[in-house]
Amino acid sequence: MPEIFSYDYALQSDYEDELRSFRDAFYLPDPNLIYLDGNSLGVLPNSTPQLLDHVVKHEWGNRLIRSWNEGWYERPSETGASLANLLGAHPEEVIMADSTSVNLFKLAFAALKYQHGRTSIVSDALNFPSDLYVLQGLVEHFGRQYQLRLVPSPDGIGIEMDKLAELLDKQTALLSLSHIVFKSSFMYDMKEVSRLAHDKGALVIWDLSHAAGAVPVRLNESGADMAIGCTYKYLNGGPGSPAFLYVRKDLQEHLQSPIWGWFGQNKPFNFDIQYKAAAGIHRFYAGSPPMLSLSSLHPSLDIITKAGIERLRLKSISQTEYLISLFRHYLQSLGFGLGSPTDSAQRGSHVSLCHPEAFRICKALINPPYGEKTIIPDFREPDNIRMGIAPLYNRYTDIFEAVMRMKTIVETASYEDFDKNRSAVS
Ligand SMILES: *Cc1c(COP(=O)(O)O)cnc(C)c1O
Repeated sequence: MPEIFSYDYALQSDYEDELRSFRDAFYLPDPNLIYLDGNSLGVLPNSTPQLLDHVVKHEWGNRLIRSWNEGWYERPSETGASLANLLGAHPEEVIMADSTSVNLFKLAFAALKYQHGRTSIVSDALNFPSDLYVLQGLVEHFGRQYQLRLVPSPDGIGIEMDKLAELLDKQTALLSLSHIVFKSSFMYDMKEVSRLAHDKGALVIWDLSHAAGAVPVRLNESGADMAIGCTYKYLNGGPGSPAFLYVRKDLQEHLQSPIWGWFGQNKPFNFDIQYKAAAGIHRFYAGSPPMLSLSSLHPSLDIITKAGIERLRLKSISQTEYLISLFRHYLQSLGFGLGSPTDSAQRGSHVSLCHPEAFRICKALINPPYGEKTIIPDFREPDNIRMGIAPLYNRYTDIFEAVMRMKTIVETASYEDFDKNRSAVS
C-alpha cells in the first residue's frame, strides 16, 4: 500500500473498495465536480428519471384517477414498509408523509397529550433549529404549561450523558433529539438514551434525518418510541421528497394526531362527516400523499438495500477516519479544527472542519479557478465546513482532492478573493 498521505493511497483505496461500482448507479455527469453534500441533498439515481417518466406519463397521464386503485393508495405504506427494513422497524410501524418538521409536530403533540400532567420537554442545544422551533411552538400553543429544557454542549460537538440525565425527571413528558447532530455529526447511543428516558417515564422522538441511509438504525432493538426523518439526504429521494414517521406498535393506539385529515380517517372514501381515527399508524396521515416524489424514493432504497447498510457504514467509517487523518496531517497546522467527534462510534457520516474563514473557504471551493475541479461541501454557521461522505458514491480520491484544495486555498489566502455576504441558502 502506498504511503497514507499520498494521492496513490487514495487511488489504491478506491480500487480496492468493494462498493465502488455503486457509484455507477448515480447521475454524476461532470468529472470536474466533487460532491460532498449528500447529507443535504443526495445525488440523483440514474434510474429515477425513467421511473418518474412512467409515473407521470402512464400512471398520471394514461390511467388518471384510476391509479389511486392501481397502487397509489397503498404506495405510502408500502414505501414505509421498505424503509422500515432499513430502520430496524416492523413494516406496519413506518409511513411516508409530509415533511420532517410537520411529522415532529404531529408526534410531539400526540406525545404531550398522552403524557398529560407532565410539564417538561427536553432537547439539546445542538438540535436542528427547525426541531427546536416546532417544540417552542408547541409550548406556546399549549398555553405555556410546558418548559423546554435544552441540554448544553460543553464543546459544541457532543452531549454528555450525565448532563442529559440531569434534565430528565418525573416531570419530563418528552425527549426530542437528533440521532446524529446536523452540525457536528455527534451520534447518540439510542439504546442508552431510551433507557434513561424510560426510567423516568418519558417518551423519546428521534430525528433520523442525518442517520437514515447513513448508519444502521435499530429502532425496535433500541427501544425507540417514535421517530421522524427526511428522505432527500442519504436516501436520495430528491428535493422535498416526503418525510417518514415511525411509532412503535404498542404505542400507536394510544396516540392521536393533531391533524384530523381524511387520509388519517378510518375509511376516507366513505366520506363520513364524523372523524374516526384510522387503526394503527395510518392515523398519522393527513392529506393526499405526493405521488411523484414518493415514487422517486424507490430506486435509491433498492440501491441501498443491494449495497447493504452495514457495508455502507464500514466504508463510511473508513472514509471519515481517512478524512480526519488527512486533516491532522495537512490542515491542522493551518488553523483548521475538528468540529466532529474523534471516536467513530459517536460519529455519523459527515465530518465538520472548523476554520475562522470557513465561509469564504467554502466559496472558494465551490467557485474554483479556471481548470480546477468544483468542490461542493456546505457551510454551517459560524465556522463549519461540513463534508458529507456518502459511501454509495463518494471516493477516497474525492476526499484527498478536497483536503488538498483546502490546504492550497488557505496557504495562498485565495479565499480573500470572495466577499463575506451570505446567500439565501448555504
Ligand atoms: C434536514 C433535517 C430536517 C428537515 O426538515 P424538513 O421539515 O423535512 O425540511 C429536519 N431535521 C433535521 C435534524 C434535519 O437534518
